[in-house]
Amino acid sequence: MPQSLSFLSGQLNEWRQAGTYQRLRILESESAAMSRFDGKEVINLASNNYLGLTTHPKLREAALEAVRRYGVGSGAVRTISGTMKLHMELEERIAAFKNVEASVVFQSGFAANAGTVSAILSPEDHIVSDELNHASIIDGCRLSRAKIHVFPHKDVAAAERILTELDSAPGHKLLISDGVFSMDGDIARLPGLADAAVRHGAIMMVDDAHSSGVLGRNGRGTIDHFGLHGKVDIQVGTLSKAIGVLGGYVCGSRDLIEFLYHRARPFLFSTSHPPAVAAACLAAFDVLEQEPERIDALWANTRYFKQGLAQAGFRTGESETPITPVLTGEARLAHELSRKLFENGVLATGIAFPTVAKDKARVRTIVTATHTRAELDRALEVFRAVGKEMGLVR
Ligand SMILES: *Cc1c(COP(=O)(O)O)cnc(C)c1O
Repeated sequence: MPQSLSFLSGQLNEWRQAGTYQRLRILESESAAMSRFDGKEVINLASNNYLGLTTHPKLREAALEAVRRYGVGSGAVRTISGTMKLHMELEERIAAFKNVEASVVFQSGFAANAGTVSAILSPEDHIVSDELNHASIIDGCRLSRAKIHVFPHKDVAAAERILTELDSAPGHKLLISDGVFSMDGDIARLPGLADAAVRHGAIMMVDDAHSSGVLGRNGRGTIDHFGLHGKVDIQVGTLSKAIGVLGGYVCGSRDLIEFLYHRARPFLFSTSHPPAVAAACLAAFDVLEQEPERIDALWANTRYFKQGLAQAGFRTGESETPITPVLTGEARLAHELSRKLFENGVLATGIAFPTVAKDKARVRTIVTATHTRAELDRALEVFRAVGKEMGLVR
């Protein structure tokens, strides 16, 4: 380590002493309900692979076929020569699925959020943002240099008060929220937010990363779940979670999408997806329409596992989705719980500041459609035993 960077080592040592230093766990098998990490076969409650699509035979086959026909790379950014027919097909497919005019795919959900907010807003504009919005939204807001007004979590009245104060201010206003919040698993009060946006002439934007493939008809997301078609101007989704592959997308009017072609910096300055990624994503949308039983299984497992954790006496917060946090409060306890779960064959990651507030550390669990009842029972047994040992439950 060069002397100029020695302050980084100091910080790492502090984290080691505080028990919040995290080593990366190495996945040595497929990402599935049971996976091998660091040489150990464990029940995987730490992926976003909600529907088990990371290993679906139709997605695998589509990816392999695309590699054979089109190779492994697109060769350029979208605006130069890297727009393949598969990219356009995928975007048309997503737009039809989401019932909007058009869609554009980015390299990741992160790039979709950060690239879109920073492209459409300028320093004279205003953003009204939920305090628990995803980091990619926060970065997009910062990059836009618009004025950022944060409202308390899910507080529609507070959001509207800010919008009212801004009524006479010049500039555009953007009201922005996650659909499902990634650390707590609760759902935004979108009908109230969408109405407030209309009343105050604000742009309404929703990030559906954790709800695409999970909520709404065939996994169409929170806008479909609440029947808000036509009331949300910009919908973001990810292809990296329930879809099982990689990428993010923005849905909205044709002009919004064409504007992003011209101004969204990750679209303009970063190479497009390999053809295999686009082809696998296309196959995933087929699966969403043809195998709705996967979503039913996801929700049945969700109800079962949540009930088991609650019966054991764990504090699980306000979750309404397959994301269920097990709250420990202190960061050290979250990491200790995670470590002991792993020793007993369950992977669930400890999450602490700065990802969540300092007193809200937790182990986050996410069940998938492909966990068996036996696996969930075993995981609950381990949670109970370790929870007792640590004094988290009686
Ligand atoms: C995961 C996540 C993203 C980022 O998606 P990637 O495709 O993994 O980059 C964006 N927003 C929210 C709310 C997320 O949970």
